[in-house]
Amino acid sequence: MTWDILIHNATILTVNPQFDILANGILGIKKDRIGLVSKRVEHEPLPHTQRRINARGGIVLPGIINTHTHLPMTLFRGLADDLPLMTWLNDYMFPAENRHVTPETVRWGTRLACAEMLLSGTTTCCDGYFFESIVAESVADSGMRAICAQGIIDYPAPGVPDPKHNIRSAHEFADKLNGTYSRVTPSIFCHSPYTCSKSTLQQAKKLASQFNMLFQIHIAETLAEQTQILDKTGMRPVEYLEHIGLLDTDTLLVHGVWLNEADIQRIQNAGAALSHNPDSNMKLASGIAPIPDLIQRGITVGLGTDGAASNNTLDMFAAMDLTAKLHKVKSGDPTAMAAETVLKMATIEAARAIGLAERIGSLETGKQADIIVLKPKQPHLMPLHHPVSQVVYAARGADVDHVIVDGKILVDGGQLIGQDMDEMIRQMQLISQAIKENKK
Ligand SMILES: [Zn+2]
Repeated sequence: MTWDILIHNATILTVNPQFDILANGILGIKKDRIGLVSKRVEHEPLPHTQRRINARGGIVLPGIINTHTHLPMTLFRGLADDLPLMTWLNDYMFPAENRHVTPETVRWGTRLACAEMLLSGTTTCCDGYFFESIVAESVADSGMRAICAQGIIDYPAPGVPDPKHNIRSAHEFADKLNGTYSRVTPSIFCHSPYTCSKSTLQQAKKLASQFNMLFQIHIAETLAEQTQILDKTGMRPVEYLEHIGLLDTDTLLVHGVWLNEADIQRIQNAGAALSHNPDSNMKLASGIAPIPDLIQRGITVGLGTDGAASNNTLDMFAAMDLTAKLHKVKSGDPTAMAAETVLKMATIEAARAIGLAERIGSLETGKQADIIVLKPKQPHLMPLHHPVSQVVYAARGADVDHVIVDGKILVDGGQLIGQDMDEMIRQMQLISQAIKENKK
């Protein structure tokens, strides 16, 4: 047997069900799959391979999965910060989106986001935005894996100027994307229960079920939202979703900051999953989601960054570090969130949350070869007493040396392969200048 790629001399964090960590591990890739993950037998020669990656004792782990993004929002990174959610949305983001989000800007914003994610070790993301077929095409071009969801909102939106057509537009998107790309799966994303009517929400969920797609929605993000939905429906946001038939195993709830015991019970009963976005929740002062309680109840929780306008980085290593510490500080208990739990939330649990756990999220034979290798022997990653702690508390996105998706090397020695970064930067400069001048 000759492998296409062989990684050796590695500390492999498999994130398999036993959470095996293999010192002096080897990992073989054939085509798009992992064919070998094991400890190297002493003194035995290495298997034959086309390409050998010597990890030099460094850490190898599953590609990181970001369960919540709005990729083209890299366009608005740093445009409006330090504001409450509703002011930020109504006075800055929605107007900026209406003026500047076009197929062309979405293409460049997505390309930039993919470059940022790949260079920082994210191999899969779960996105929701407008002009999503352009997002999907750009993600596919980058070599990444993604769930791409057409955004639905009951306001005029980029690409859908008349909200009467938002469901039809999502339907066309699902039709177009169904089976088009091997690594990009279509989905539906309703913005929230305060920007979508009951009828829109129900029609969107029906469409998602019809195409067997993941249904995503921002929910229970702020106290203001809770008050608004209570006033409108007499129900709490999660209770409302349950009441109108939106909670089930194919639903990904985003944020879930304001959940009480009954809400958690509802999510558990429905088998829905949650995307936790601590960076965004902190920056917008939305609050702290009760994640340890959800995990204790067996609810699937994946980590996300949210869009680059509300974070402002797509670096999942920063999100992991923050998650572990945030829940410790909230509970006053340093055991409340272990590094191992957080790593799972960024890999296998994230894969489960978006319905891809059979294919990705851990390093096991037969799974898709989505793998990252960290740069070894750096001062801040030495010594290697606990590799999982190193990944969560000490590593940064910039430590990623190699990124492999579907058996293809997309980052090699810290360099993005096959992407014109200079052109990407030039385009972003032009777009940011137009935004600054408030021009189309
Ligand atoms: Zn979001």
